[in-house]
Amino acid sequence: MTGSKTMGYRYRVYPNKEQQIFFAKTFGCCRFLYNKMLEDKQTYYKQTGKWLNCKPSDYYDAYPFLKEVDSRALKNTWLNLIKAYQNFFKNPNKNNFPKFKRKHISKDSYTTEQNKGRNTIRVTGNKINLPKVGLIKAVIHRPLPDGAVIKSATVTRTKSGKYYVSLTVEQAVKPCKPVQPNFDTTLGIDFSFRSFYVDSNGFSPGNPHFYCQLEEKLKREQKKLASKVKGSNNWIKQKIKIEKIQEKIKNRRKDFCHKLSREIADTYNTVCIEDFSLKEFAGSRQLGKSMFDCGFGMFRNFLKYKLAEQGKFLITIDKWFPSSQICNNCGYVNHNLKIDEKQWICPSCGLTLDRDINAALNIRSEGLKQICK
Ligand SMILES: [Zn+2]
Repeated sequence: MTGSKTMGYRYRVYPNKEQQIFFAKTFGCCRFLYNKMLEDKQTYYKQTGKWLNCKPSDYYDAYPFLKEVDSRALKNTWLNLIKAYQNFFKNPNKNNFPKFKRKHISKDSYTTEQNKGRNTIRVTGNKINLPKVGLIKAVIHRPLPDGAVIKSATVTRTKSGKYYVSLTVEQAVKPCKPVQPNFDTTLGIDFSFRSFYVDSNGFSPGNPHFYCQLEEKLKREQKKLASKVKGSNNWIKQKIKIEKIQEKIKNRRKDFCHKLSREIADTYNTVCIEDFSLKEFAGSRQLGKSMFDCGFGMFRNFLKYKLAEQGKFLITIDKWFPSSQICNNCGYVNHNLKIDEKQWICPSCGLTLDRDINAALNIRSEGLKQICK
């Protein structure tokens, strides 16, 4: 099995003053061009009923400052506007119409493409080279694999003033010998709101509500936002404050999911989980949302690729499999098990069963059954 896949590599960068100014200029020019083109298209449509074909270079004479930034970033902005229109045409409704980008509220970012002949985007030691910027100090915590081809780079400045460069890379898929699953190296996982999950060894990482405090704070700040006049200076300030908190929550959640999935993927050959997505999301929108916020989906995705990289397996069990109701010792099915029963005694074999551990053990057996078929 050989081929190639597209991967993203995100690095923290530390631009110097001059580079920061260039980034700010490029963010601004991209936003300006996007808005200008959108405005012109709208005006032209109102006047003629026709679609205006315009491209970045049409604006160079009237706005010469556009020539100072990366032209590929402007080209990308133009393509984004066309994409936004295409989305609207596909699903025409008011909410879908391309919106003007506003300073402070819209994301500070731009994407530039590789110049294949000159290799303008490249990683050299602890630096990243970008067109028209030159070498930028970076933390290369995860080096690009040998033979990787960089396609594009996206520069982002977060609301808290951190800079990141995300590289889109095409790399060869290494043929990986699949491992042989067996009982001892297989882990069953039962997701739970109380404790994130419980595994078949009875281990639980605990609920990732380490960001509970931050969430409380977020709610408070969101309430404050609602009391301000939309679009006013105070509103914008408050909005930025909220985005900073959201950024922090997102980072902590991601970090938690990365660490946990790395540990499991390095320890076990096979991991079995329930297909919770449909089951829970269908049940309750509120529940679905908090489940999503907990990072179950992110955790599962990280686990899946970290296992696959080593030729290991993630087995998904049918969402209708009654993992909690089966006694893992004798196979008795307890149809009367209530949702709030944490523990039950099997009427058939007399064993006391912890609801979550029992479910994780059943998920493991069921997964092994599937893979050894
Ligand atoms: Zn039993």
